Amino acid sequence: MKRWFRVVIISIFSLAAVSLVVIQFIQTRRTFSISDNMFNVSVNNAMDEVIKQLNGEVMQTPSHPASAFNYQELDSLIVEELLISGIDMHPIVGLYDGSQGSFLYSSDSRQEYRLEQSPYRYSFRPVGVISANQYYIILAFPPSYLPFQVSNSVYIYMTLFLILVIATLFIVSLRTIANQRKLDQMKNEFINNMTHEIKTPIATIGLACEMLGDNSVSQDAASRANFLGIVAAENNRMRVLVETILQSAKMSNRNFRINLTEFDINPVIEKVAQTFQLTVNTRGGEIETHLDAEPSTVMADELHLTNLIYNLVDNGIKYTNGAPHIVISTATANGRFLLRVQDHGIGIAKGDQKHIFEKFYRVPTGDVHNVKGFGIGLNYVAEVVRLHHGHISLESEPGKGSTFTVSLPAD
Ligand code: ADP
Repeated sequence: MKRWFRVVIISIFSLAAVSLVVIQFIQTRRTFSISDNMFNVSVNNAMDEVIKQLNGEVMQTPSHPASAFNYQELDSLIVEELLISGIDMHPIVGLYDGSQGSFLYSSDSRQEYRLEQSPYRYSFRPVGVISANQYYIILAFPPSYLPFQVSNSVYIYMTLFLILVIATLFIVSLRTIANQRKLDQMKNEFINNMTHEIKTPIATIGLACEMLGDNSVSQDAASRANFLGIVAAENNRMRVLVETILQSAKMSNRNFRINLTEFDINPVIEKVAQTFQLTVNTRGGEIETHLDAEPSTVMADELHLTNLIYNLVDNGIKYTNGAPHIVISTATANGRFLLRVQDHGIGIAKGDQKHIFEKFYRVPTGDVHNVKGFGIGLNYVAEVVRLHHGHISLESEPGKGSTFTVSLPAD
């Protein structure tokens, strides 16, 4: 996906999502106010009816409305009229004497304060009551009982829920697009690096073969051994490279199993050290082994453990600028087998240490020290350790070097 196209899609999507939120907000407010108005109109209609009926009643000459009504009847009349207007509820009812500033009656005396604040207040002058006082029938609806408001809150929750769903989908889509882009970049980098990594040994082997076939170059036993050594080392390098990529791909498969056998690790380590001897010597460095684990046998998958050691040593050499100094050591501690690969190279900053076991992760300065790689070696190492129920740790300081310690359960 082209960059400008992605920007356009994201902008349209953001605009649509924001518009949707605004429209929903306006709509919700409108619905709220419409249903509030509908409710008020219905209550007013019902109360018009009530007042009309009360006015129609011929009072017996009482001088005071308190004695003019049967309040239970007033209550039921109000409930009945509300019901006719579509409001199925029982509000608190009060009869208020405006001149005295007191309630002559309230259906719930503890809630009189609510009646005082209620906007549903209907002026009323009973026929036959000989009094100049102003009377009011007041209704109070508990807010949570208002049917329109109940449906409104359902509406609001639904709207909020939908907005949340849309926002989540939007974020997920953005992340997927970003991941896709990252994967694309990684794939390109991977192909570039792989080509580079394979081209170098091919060129070196080609050169060594040319030398072997060139009669003008000394062909004494030592020179031949030297050229053959280069061919063998580069060949091995490619083998492990291809092996690591293949094994790493295989390990992504859930059904992947390791093949445990008991074997002596010392010859394996010596052989790996041997493989790198030439490269290290050429750069004026050294590779030491201190194999102190007792016993030196381990219960592990020989192929993968060999590749693991190879990867760690290879990195130690790759990420040393001057002469490499690699120390491979083994030990037994608390019943566990420990393998340590130490280098004195460029080291790894704290911030990168937590990422280096992630697939395709390469320390961003990777290209500064001009070392090409795939970023899968350490991920493969970590997977092998995990499959052996082991543990891997790293101690490293930039400029001083790194030590990887693999601990495996003893058999
Ligand atoms: P790569 O193919 O890039 O070497 P790895 O998975 O083996 O991939 O390593 C991931 C990254 O960790 C490397 O790109 C490098 O930046 C860093 N790294 C690994 N080993 C070392 C080390 N011994 N010293 C310094 N940096 C290292």
